[in-house]
Amino acid sequence: MFRLSRMYYTMPDGTIKQLNPFTGTEVWTVPGRGRKPITNKPPATATRIDHRRPEDYCNFCESRLLNVPPEKARVVKTDGEWKVLSQLDTADYFETAPEFRRVPNLFEIVTLDYWKLNHGYKLSERNRRWQERILASEQGAEHVRRVLELKLRLSGRSEEEIANLTDDDIRELSEPFFGGGHELIIARRHYRENAEITSDLCSSGCLSPEEHYQYLKFTIDALTDLQQNNRYVRYVSVFQNWLAPAGASFDHLHTQLVALDEWGASVEGEVELAEKDPNIYNELIVNFAAYSNLIFAENEHAVAVAEIGHRYPTLGVYSKSVNLRPWELTHEELYGFSRLVHACHAAMGNQVACNEEWYYAPRDALVRIPWHILIKLRTNNPAGFEGGTKIYINPVAPTDLRDMIVPRLYELRDSGYIRGLKIAEECPCEPNSLKYYLATA
Ligand SMILES: [Zn+2]
Repeated sequence: MFRLSRMYYTMPDGTIKQLNPFTGTEVWTVPGRGRKPITNKPPATATRIDHRRPEDYCNFCESRLLNVPPEKARVVKTDGEWKVLSQLDTADYFETAPEFRRVPNLFEIVTLDYWKLNHGYKLSERNRRWQERILASEQGAEHVRRVLELKLRLSGRSEEEIANLTDDDIRELSEPFFGGGHELIIARRHYRENAEITSDLCSSGCLSPEEHYQYLKFTIDALTDLQQNNRYVRYVSVFQNWLAPAGASFDHLHTQLVALDEWGASVEGEVELAEKDPNIYNELIVNFAAYSNLIFAENEHAVAVAEIGHRYPTLGVYSKSVNLRPWELTHEELYGFSRLVHACHAAMGNQVACNEEWYYAPRDALVRIPWHILIKLRTNNPAGFEGGTKIYINPVAPTDLRDMIVPRLYELRDSGYIRGLKIAEECPCEPNSLKYYLATA
């Protein structure tokens, strides 16, 4: 059993040493290294926006629906009702205004060939019929050909090869668009409401709480659909890279899903620890955070902590539900969880580059792991010292991170922007508040 006293302690000079109980990562916060406060001050490079309606600033913008591969589904809001439309005809793309779109990533991390050659994967009947329908329509065939040409050009294929593509080539080469395992959920807005300058981008925290809930729900729909259409999938990695320093290729809000035939080292590590100690997420995360005053927000369905032992300042949101996997949560549980994740993003503002990472029990694991999301602020760059020693310098101590977030949360709640959460000292901090350990599977 991990010694709690080794996880988090302060040396006489003020250096805070942390050891991550899940990854073993050793992290130091050295006094005097300075920390940047969270600021929404625009960078000096920001300029006035040349407003265009519909938005037309990058390939994820709503005027460029045909610049990405065929859309798998969209969420629309009509007369106050949220609805999902799946596998639309290309001709209908501009008939409704998508709040969120689910599209294949042009360049997959794990390719369709990987699934075909290693597992004998074939497109599901439903996806195969959809491909046939799109290619049989004039607009659909034209759209697929154009996006495919772009992909091949970027992959270094010659213009002659591209010009000689037959219908059969197009059918085969476009299969990843219809049955691949790497997808994006793209939000509607590039800039937030009432934006004036180019740094007024629409981050997760700029969505309304309702929009954020729909965003998570739609992402979970994609996750389950990926699993249903490929029986070799053991885990779907879900993450969001916000801004270029966090790895985003466009400054336009999107989440990525990548289907995998294994759990990946991080989740495998969590599964092993959770098998050994079924109450580990309470003991070493939430109870520990409560005793160390690191819980900064809480509601009936989730709890948010300033995490220890990460290379980057990290916020963690843990589902309290007895239901383990994202798709098993009830509507109320998901809504409550979403509210805390949204509050974290809103408190950070849209100027801080970050990665949002999802962790949950794989569908083929019997182990109990509560769904949790880590938001890592990419404010520092690990350098040579870190590489040589495997001791990481995180300039922001967990207590400092908490103290940066808490005043922002009060401010946002006072203004009515966020609701339905208790902040800092208001949090009940009950021991063993995560109920995942009571789950039946
Ligand atoms: Zn855009």
